[in-house]
Amino acid sequence: MSHVMNTYARLPVAFTHGEGVWLHDETGKRYLDALSGIAVNTLGHNHPRLVKAIADQAARVLHTSNLYGIPLQERLADRIAELAGMDEVFFCNSGCEANEAAIKLARFHGHRKGIEVPHIIVMENAFHGRTLATLSATGNRKAQAGFEPLVQGFIRVPYKDMGAIRQVAEHNHNVVAVMLEMIQGEGGVNVADEAFQRELRALCDERGWLLICDEVQCGMGRTGTWFGWQHAGAKPDVMTLAKGLASGVPIGACVTAGLAKGLFGPGNHGSTFGGNPLACVAALTTLDTIADDGLMQNAVAVGEAIRRGMAEALEGVQGVVDIRGRGLMIGIELDRPCGVLMGRAAERGLLISVTAERVVRLLPALTYTTADAQTLVSMLAPLVREFLAQG
Ligand SMILES: *Cc1c(COP(=O)(O)O)cnc(C)c1O
Repeated sequence: MSHVMNTYARLPVAFTHGEGVWLHDETGKRYLDALSGIAVNTLGHNHPRLVKAIADQAARVLHTSNLYGIPLQERLADRIAELAGMDEVFFCNSGCEANEAAIKLARFHGHRKGIEVPHIIVMENAFHGRTLATLSATGNRKAQAGFEPLVQGFIRVPYKDMGAIRQVAEHNHNVVAVMLEMIQGEGGVNVADEAFQRELRALCDERGWLLICDEVQCGMGRTGTWFGWQHAGAKPDVMTLAKGLASGVPIGACVTAGLAKGLFGPGNHGSTFGGNPLACVAALTTLDTIADDGLMQNAVAVGEAIRRGMAEALEGVQGVVDIRGRGLMIGIELDRPCGVLMGRAAERGLLISVTAERVVRLLPALTYTTADAQTLVSMLAPLVREFLAQG
């Protein structure tokens, strides 16, 4: 019996090492990685520049404490603030922690305005994490079941539904923020159109609400801009980052601007590990490499090649509902549950995920080449075709 708690339905595969966009297992078989540890391995596996930066830092110092100054954290905060055009960064270790900080900021903002029971509007099919508050904000009843009482103060509306948000605004004067993913990841790769994003920004301005963008999955250059909200220019007051920020070293960040700037002072929030020198070096190297190697432009071109390739290969195939996404965040929606495809793909040496039951999700490293894209299409399209042909 395994002593690891049984919280995941794992495939019977374990990897020994990686090489760019490929992973090798214990038997010597290799796998094309189109999942990147769920949007984490931004630079693929064992990227030489990242390996060197981490090794050099490990030889100097791994961790000190937020009781002291951390110059690398200062540098990383400057860099993120510059890329986002935002002001302050709080560092933690994961996406849910970054969102916890965002939720606390929203409540703090409310209390400052004299709203004692602040409410946050959240979306159907949203995913914000597994801690109690972020689970409560997540729009998935199955994930919440059995953990009641949930954290109070969230109001749920359908994704991208401006009318529903306006209706809440009219009747509920305790709203202090709207929290959403501009591109939903776990929810099935659903993209909020730019008109909606701008209208939402305008409504938040009008009402004095914080706009909170969860960029944990769609951020970090994956969609062709540093952050997903930059496609529409609807800059949030709070933005959260994690997953791909340090290419595999755990880190999270909660970034503020506008009404959210300057809310927290000493004692309001904290983290033991958050923003330690090792994680900050990994994040700085990730950001520098994305910029120096043109990886955002690459994400746009390669993402387009994958979508086009899959569309051509699956043309006229019954059961393909939609092929969508932005850059290297891609969803292929089928007309039936297709979770079995993950295992079948792995058998053939391809790593993908299925989310929202019916959506094949691809999150390749930003270092994918168009040749890698072709390999991916040539492996995945026949698999989908065969699966759908079985009826
Ligand atoms: C993965 C994810 C989270 C949770 O991140 P953890 O690091 O697992 O806590 C939150 N929001 C979004 C959009 C995510 O994709």
